[in-house]
Amino acid sequence: MKQRVFSGARPTGRQHLGNYLGAIRNYVALQNEYDCIYSVVDIHALTSLEDTKQLQSNIYEMMLDWLAAGLDPKKCILFVQSHVPEVMELFTLLGMVTPLSWLLRVPTFKDKAKLQPHNVNYGLVGYPVLMTADIVLYKAEAIPVGEDQLPHLELAREIVRRFNNMFGDTFPEPLAKLTAFPMVVGLDGKDKMSKQLGNHIELALTPEETLERVKTAVTDPARRYRRDPGHPEVCNVYRLQQYFNELKTSGIAEKCRQAEIGCVDCKELLAEAINKDLAPFRERRQALAAMPEYVTKVLADGAARAGVIARKTLVEVKERMGLD
Ligand code: SF4
Repeated sequence: MKQRVFSGARPTGRQHLGNYLGAIRNYVALQNEYDCIYSVVDIHALTSLEDTKQLQSNIYEMMLDWLAAGLDPKKCILFVQSHVPEVMELFTLLGMVTPLSWLLRVPTFKDKAKLQPHNVNYGLVGYPVLMTADIVLYKAEAIPVGEDQLPHLELAREIVRRFNNMFGDTFPEPLAKLTAFPMVVGLDGKDKMSKQLGNHIELALTPEETLERVKTAVTDPARRYRRDPGHPEVCNVYRLQQYFNELKTSGIAEKCRQAEIGCVDCKELLAEAINKDLAPFRERRQALAAMPEYVTKVLADGAARAGVIARKTLVEVKERMGLD
C-alpha cells in the first residue's frame, strides 16, 4: 500500500514562480509515488482576517494553476479544507489535549502576533492544532516539509503522541518527508518571492508581461555600466537562470564576468527561458479557465473522497474519547 502524503497551502490566488519551484513541482512528482492529499487550507487563511472577499476567487485561481501544472485528480485528492468540516470538530477535540504552553512557545506565533498586534486571535495561537487536525484526520504518514518547517511538524507529532498515550493508538505519528524546497528570491533580490511583497512573477502572465516583470529585477549592484565585469554569484537574475536556463548557465556566468553580456540581454534570455518552460502550463491553464465547472467538480469530488476518510477517523476519535 502506498504511503499517504498530506500537504496544505493557503489560498493565495494566482501562483508565482516561487510557489511553482518551491512546492507545486514537488506535489506533481509525489502524486505518482504516494497516496497524496492536497488541500487549499482556507480556514487557516482566516487567522489573519485580511480580505475575505477575495477568498473564493483566490481558491479558484490557485486550483487552476495547480491543475495546469499537472496535479491530476485521478492520481491525488484535491479539495478545500472547509469543504470537509470534520476538520473543525477534530481541531476542537485535539485542542483539549494540547497544553497552551506548547502553543505559546511556537516562534511563528510570536512573529505573527508582532505582525498583527491588533488581532492576536485564538485561531492564531491554535494554528498548530488545526494543522495537526489537517494531517491526522486523513491519517497521513508523510508530510513534505523543508528544514525550516520541521519544528511545526514536531509539535504535531507531540500532539499525536499525547493523544495516543491518553486514548490509545489512534493516529500514526506523521513523518517529515524532507524536501529540498528551493527558496526562490524575489525580483528585489532580497526577500523570498511573495505576492505580498510584490516581488513575484505570476505563472499565468503572458510572455510579454513576463519580460516586463523580469526587466524590473535587481541584478549585481556593483555592475553599474555595461562595461563593468559582473558577479553572477550575487545576482538574482543569475539564480533564476539556473532553474530555467541550465544549459546556457555556465556560458552566461563567464560572459557576465568578462562583461561580454549586458544585464538587459541577460534578462531577455531569462524571460525567454521562463516563457518556454511555462508555455504548456499556460496553454492548459487557458483551456481549464474556459470550463470553470470542471474546477468546481474536481473540488467537489475531492471533498467527497476526503470526507469518507475524515468521517471514519472522527468516529474512531469520538469513541476513543468517550463521546460515543
Ligand atoms: Fe546578473 Fe546577468 Fe547582469 Fe550578470 S549579466 S549581473 S548574471 S543580470
